[in-house]
Amino acid sequence: MPGVTILGERLRQSLTERHSRHLYRQTLLRDPGCGLEQVIDGRLFVNFCSNDYLGLSHHPDVVAALIRGAKEYGVGSGASHLVTGHCRVHEQLCEELADFCGRDRVMLFSTGYMANIGVINALTRPDDLVCHDALNHASLLDGGWLSRAESKRYPHVDLESLSNMLGNFDRRRTTESMALVVTDGVFSMDGDCAPLADLADLALHHDAVLMVDDAHGIGCLGPQGRGVVADAGLTQQQVPVLVGTFGKAFGTAGAFVSGDDLLIDYLTQFARTYVFTTAMSPALAEATRTSLALLRQEHWRRARLQELIERFRTTTLMLGLKLLPGNSPVQALMLGDAATAQAVSQLLKQRGLQVSAIRPPTVPVGQSRLRITLSAVHSDEHLQRLLDALAEVAEYLQDRA
Ligand code: PMP
Repeated sequence: MPGVTILGERLRQSLTERHSRHLYRQTLLRDPGCGLEQVIDGRLFVNFCSNDYLGLSHHPDVVAALIRGAKEYGVGSGASHLVTGHCRVHEQLCEELADFCGRDRVMLFSTGYMANIGVINALTRPDDLVCHDALNHASLLDGGWLSRAESKRYPHVDLESLSNMLGNFDRRRTTESMALVVTDGVFSMDGDCAPLADLADLALHHDAVLMVDDAHGIGCLGPQGRGVVADAGLTQQQVPVLVGTFGKAFGTAGAFVSGDDLLIDYLTQFARTYVFTTAMSPALAEATRTSLALLRQEHWRRARLQELIERFRTTTLMLGLKLLPGNSPVQALMLGDAATAQAVSQLLKQRGLQVSAIRPPTVPVGQSRLRITLSAVHSDEHLQRLLDALAEVAEYLQDRA
């Protein structure tokens, strides 16, 4: 059979299976517009699935900075960082981020996905072990699998399993080999925080290195929005590798890795997703600098976000709905099977609320959910509309029970 026929058959089979298991993902089309009231696929919705947690993506100062950056440096950087793509504005952003995180140095990546893949690959060798929380973001898991090290997953936040995993590794490791413990700071689909202090203790006990990806915490949680690592009071020594992304609280795009001089010097040479790709747009770097300044100054954004999260949780739990624990902007409303999650998401859509149903393979079978995200720029009325609709969801689920 010709190769194209085999390929076509393979693709059709996979797509048909996705459809039949209610797992097919649709691309939505959003029209121009500001804020979280958005025209999506031709209908007006309040968006409760954006990661724009502080509402900075449309901030006029951030938009103005993007335009200024483009005028000063061009839209594209024109080259990789190590050729001529690294502009003064990138350097300024790195210095400001290092100051914000209280860490020695920072380097930039075009996306969080690339940061995680590049860092794990560069840091590990074939005789190393990468220990993942089972619910780590796909980019971390892929980073482990793409590296030549052995990758293992421990059950979600199960410190005993991790301890056993590290203990077994200790018994067979050479003096040269290393264990890298990798975790989301705030888990992207569950919204809970990693037990960072305990993880740091375990890492210390087993001579392992702890890497934290705080994509969803940085900007939103911890003192001055410095994220969950700062919230746990952990030092750079305890968490030598910290990743943050700009596509969420910062409202822009891109990512950073922070650590000591040696780490950043090394990654600048050896992280392939840094070396072999066009540097992040300088215009975006300028916009991100403005976002950083705003999120450092405007504490009200985090206070407002927390207020909305608390009101959301109190009422939703009172309705008898099941939420996973956690005070992050990611709130997981657990619904069980994929079909129910899809039906509830449809019900909310009919009420003008955009909430995405998260189904396998993103989450385990039987743990389909709505991933509801809150933002500092949701109004009281937006929240009330969501809570009213959830009261209907609670009735719908009771009727079915
Ligand atoms: N890490 C985590 C925990 C994430 O949730 C995401 C994306 N949502 C990423 C990394 C990837 O970041 P980016 O979107 O910048 O590629």
